[in-house]
Amino acid sequence: MWVLGAGMAGLCAAARARELGAAPLVLEKGSRAGGSMLLSSGVVWRYRSFDEFRAQCPGGDERLQRLVFDGLDKGLEWLESLGAPVVERETGNPLTSGVRFDTQGLTDALVRAAGEVRFGQGPGTVPGAWPEGTAVLATGGFQGDRELVERYVRPAAPLRVRANPWSTGDGLRAGLERGAELSDGLDEFYGRNMADVDFGEGEFVSLAQVYGRYARIVNERGEEFFDGAAVSWSELDLVQATAHQPGARAWYLLDEKALEQRVRYGTVGDLVAQAPTRVPPDQLSFPADGAAAAVRVAAAITHTIGGLRVDGRARVLGVDGQPLDGLYAAGADAGGISTGGYASGLASALVLGRAAAEDAVR
Ligand SMILES: Cc1cc2nc3c(=O)[nH]c(=O)nc-3n(C[C@H](O)[C@H](O)[C@H](O)COP(=O)(O)OP(=O)(O)OC[C@H]3O[C@@H](n4cnc5c(N)ncnc54)[C@H](O)[C@@H]3O)c2cc1C
Repeated sequence: MWVLGAGMAGLCAAARARELGAAPLVLEKGSRAGGSMLLSSGVVWRYRSFDEFRAQCPGGDERLQRLVFDGLDKGLEWLESLGAPVVERETGNPLTSGVRFDTQGLTDALVRAAGEVRFGQGPGTVPGAWPEGTAVLATGGFQGDRELVERYVRPAAPLRVRANPWSTGDGLRAGLERGAELSDGLDEFYGRNMADVDFGEGEFVSLAQVYGRYARIVNERGEEFFDGAAVSWSELDLVQATAHQPGARAWYLLDEKALEQRVRYGTVGDLVAQAPTRVPPDQLSFPADGAAAAVRVAAAITHTIGGLRVDGRARVLGVDGQPLDGLYAAGADAGGISTGGYASGLASALVLGRAAAEDAVR
């Protein structure tokens, strides 16, 4: 059994397969394990009720949502049993429950349990390296490939990438070559509006500007394109709307009252003070009446939401709706779970990764 990708989904699949008596081999394209999971905040979560999940992600595949919702608590216990260190047992969001892990410790625990990982390898890295036999595609989505993003997500949108550099759609391409069907929601993505500067992976969290709900939101021409008061808790709708604006950029205009609002790690004013792209409103090229501060943001993609269509056993489905022999997908390679909204990518990677292993080893 081959597992392609040593991120959250691939390591969970390999660790579970090994536990069930198989001897999986993990091929990892990059130079380290952990994928985007290692760079993440490490919160593995679900909505508190299934109805809330449906309401938040109305376009998602209900069977897959049920699988993730029902399977998460068991998955979390299993991660802890492997020695993954827990940082917090709450998410800080009344809509959700979950566990925050130390991501280096989680990676180490999963690598120990997963067995052999070969680095610098995988389809798309070595010519003819497509493995024979059962394979789990867990390459982390296609956000790192400009051509695929422009084809499926936004034509000519210069989205910045806020993810590991190796997830460039190799799983998607490998599935399509084998006759796979695509999921719904191909044009949707999870991401953040970031301060509009070049950034590295150490700044993925610190440069994220997650207070758009308190702002007046305008594009570079000064045109209001999204009602700040209507922004969702995850601010994902705002990021996606920003991606449609010229240059995939926006300005957050904040009045005095907005600056006083409390967010998770202080006030909006604290965050604005740290934003490298704040400017005095009177220096803008358009009128910003009533604004006390302005911050320029750019839409960045963390991972794609659409991908390969899978069934409730993580089997990749062909265009005829039938499973493709021996081919599984998990994590961001498996699409259509959170269509229409946002759900934990780590949770679906965990649950689908385990499901793929359990089906493959049966
Ligand atoms: C800053 C940040 C914060 C986040 N915070 C959270 C959070 O708190 N909670 C949450 O639920 N989600 C969060 N996420 C999202 C989460 O990290 C992803 O949803 C999750 O990692 C997806 O798992 P995956 O296995 O699909 O991809 P990854 O974990 O990215 O793993 C994919 C792996 O596949 C490898 N790969 C790519 N191509 C190939 C190939 N051809 N052959 C072999 N290997 C290949 C990659 O190198 C990578 O190691 C965050 C992400 C970021 C960047």
